[in-house]
Amino acid sequence: MRRIPKLVSYRPPPPPNLNAGEPAIVLEDLWFGYQKDEWVIKALSLVVKKGEMMGLIGQNGSGKTTLAQLVAGILRPVRGRVFVFGKDMTKYGVMIRGRDIGYIFQNPDYQIFSNTVRDEISYGLKAAGMSEKEVEARVKEVSEMLGVSKLLDEDPFFLTKADRQRIAVASILALNPRIIILDEPTTGLSPGETTALMDTVVKLNKLGTTIITITHDMWVVARYCDRVVLMADGKIVVDGPTRTVFSDIEFLEKYDIEVPTVVKLSRKLVGETYLTVEEFLEHVEFYKHGG
Ligand code: ADP
Repeated sequence: MRRIPKLVSYRPPPPPNLNAGEPAIVLEDLWFGYQKDEWVIKALSLVVKKGEMMGLIGQNGSGKTTLAQLVAGILRPVRGRVFVFGKDMTKYGVMIRGRDIGYIFQNPDYQIFSNTVRDEISYGLKAAGMSEKEVEARVKEVSEMLGVSKLLDEDPFFLTKADRQRIAVASILALNPRIIILDEPTTGLSPGETTALMDTVVKLNKLGTTIITITHDMWVVARYCDRVVLMADGKIVVDGPTRTVFSDIEFLEKYDIEVPTVVKLSRKLVGETYLTVEEFLEHVEFYKHGG
């Protein structure tokens, strides 16, 4: 007996309208290099709209982290401008920008320095001048959200990478930034831990937080991001809705990007791009054929 896939519905959902909405981040002709005459970011312009969930992808060394740190104010562009909610941020330091943008480092250990999880999550809140009561309430809220409330008295140093990652995220979320940049948040996490973290991020996104996720996990992009920006050699080489970008498998392969198996399978079997197994199964039905 053979099982032949049959399409139930011929078209996947339409792409999100990425042109709608207020700009959260506007990058204008950005140039940056760590050394003289060696440009790492080259004439890069980009607009990210409020409430977007964007995936930033590209080979190692393409400039993703550098770009994220330029947006977050950790680095300053040599040329060009960075606007955040209409304000020219090139003039402000990282402390001022931190109110709008939370950048979560690739390695949580660059960020964590307190002796207890509670101190770590409260640090930024205290620095912002919140009362003790407010701090306590906020720590409770975010630690519950990230599932670390049982760890508040622990020393982060002795926890797992997944827990430290959650704590790093919690300490940024506590400050309630309007934009969050996660730099390879899922490295070293199990699929279950990744899903738990990304589901929390999606919750924030649904509440209006603009999210940029740098990742090498293409299933994370396929499942969670509306938009994909692919960088190569300090420039953007493609930018569009995830389904559209992931439909051109050959183009992505030139940049060493391998789309999830379900994307390849659905393109081959039914000529459409389904981004997740669930989506594929929703649209494609198997029926028994022959004997
Ligand atoms: P990605 O995040 O895409 O891997 P990066 O932004 O980390 O890319 O790196 C882009 C380029 O800049 C690479 O060639 C890298 O070696 C270089 N680079 C990154 N950080 C530094 C640094 N602190 N000093 C000098 N060169 C750096």
